[in-house]
Amino acid sequence: MGIPKLLLRLLLLLQVTTALAQLSPIETAETVPAADQWLQPGDRLQVRLKGQPGATATFLGGKSMNELSPMLTNGQLGIYQGTYVVQPGDTLFDRLIAFELLTADSMRTVAFSQNTVRFLNQNAPQLAVTKGPLAYLNYGLGEDRLGGAKMGYLDSLVVLNINGKVGNQYRVRLAENQIAWVPENSVRLLPPGGFMPGSLTGSWSVQGDSLYDYVRVPLTERLPYRSQLLTEPTRLVIDVFGATSNTNWITQRAGLQALGDVHYEQVQPDVFRLVLHLRHRQSWGYSIGYQNNVLTIRVKRPPAKMHLRGLTVAVDAGHGGTNTGAVGASGAREKDLTLAIAQRLRRKLEHKGARVLMTRDADLSVDNGDRILRLRQANPDLLVSIHVNSSSSKTVRGTSTYYRYVAFRPLSTAIYAEMLRTGLPGFGNVGSFNFGLNGPTEYPNALVETAFVSNSDDERLLTSPEFQQRMAEHITRGLTNFLRNSRQPGLRGWLSRRPAAQ
Ligand SMILES: [Zn+2]
Repeated sequence: MGIPKLLLRLLLLLQVTTALAQLSPIETAETVPAADQWLQPGDRLQVRLKGQPGATATFLGGKSMNELSPMLTNGQLGIYQGTYVVQPGDTLFDRLIAFELLTADSMRTVAFSQNTVRFLNQNAPQLAVTKGPLAYLNYGLGEDRLGGAKMGYLDSLVVLNINGKVGNQYRVRLAENQIAWVPENSVRLLPPGGFMPGSLTGSWSVQGDSLYDYVRVPLTERLPYRSQLLTEPTRLVIDVFGATSNTNWITQRAGLQALGDVHYEQVQPDVFRLVLHLRHRQSWGYSIGYQNNVLTIRVKRPPAKMHLRGLTVAVDAGHGGTNTGAVGASGAREKDLTLAIAQRLRRKLEHKGARVLMTRDADLSVDNGDRILRLRQANPDLLVSIHVNSSSSKTVRGTSTYYRYVAFRPLSTAIYAEMLRTGLPGFGNVGSFNFGLNGPTEYPNALVETAFVSNSDDERLLTSPEFQQRMAEHITRGLTNFLRNSRQPGLRGWLSRRPAAQ
């Protein structure tokens, strides 16, 4: 009938096109990386072509490419590479890169890259402003299941100088020799031609109200910043990019409880560093944002009493709804296990007198970004996020805890020590963890990967109501121990570390 005939024709067509592809002297031609790019003078446009060996390859209207020695290509012939350093005055606006291959028998073939390239005009700087409540900077272009390593969140309407782009991330010039990356959807581009962001700093005010301590630094526009909460001694270090000191005094008013000495350093001509010493060994978090163009750092004070009674603890049950999470060998689902453990933990904490905020209390889909925003509004004292772990190796098992910032490490350390007392083997207390709910700086937080659902022994424990209860009890004890250890104020902590005076 008609169908076999059509099939035959299709097969024939396929054979002809394959033959043509084999005949074409250029197999592939691409930019490296193979992504849409914006480049500025001094940046390198890198290209690669795979084609007939022994030919002459060029790109970008005659720039030459080199055929690589087979020693560099595992013996493969016909791999050509080229680099062009973008020069001032070069123009190119979102164009595909043209390649040309001239073979020994004088056959000329042209091909185009799949991705576009733009050369930025430095005489008309490209600015952008951050948008939304969760704009953030990344250190680099790396990606994994946790996303790129984050430098930190930024307030909205922060002015950024965009000096490049790869794929869906813009490169941000923070200061001389300092860059970051920002996802396309975190910013709104301004028409090219603004001035580079920069500001002199005004004189600071440092004061406390009934709830928080504040440091306020007036600027003429919202500049990007990066913060680090460091320990021993406990201090908050904030770099403001594009800022230059004109701070002639720092007014320290009454009412301060968390802040000790504050000072600044101009670490390079366009980086202004605030150093805020904290009076307590354990930091309870901070937030940075702008009130108009005044950079405002709000520092949390320790709770009045270091007991669970009266404290607000956020409990996060990982995954949920359409987000199942990991699935065990005999079918246990992460989203059910995390909810069961979180609910037991809530009851335990409430029994101790804590107020508990659940990020979800049913089988619901809740995005991690929404969880972070809700927590920011609810302003808990602490957060514990509950997940179950999974590995491609069925023999890997045990319990682990995770923190992002060293200053919050004592919380995960205390929970980890107690989780080991459940009898689970240890898988570690892991730092610098780039998990969304370890990202907030507003309150100490820890992630508990209770056990491995991918291991049959651990899965049996995770699904046992008695063992779920036991984990909830030990996490609660971990929190109690953390609070007890945090009781010591900074001064006494310092004295106790000193050798006894004669
Ligand atoms: Zn998970």
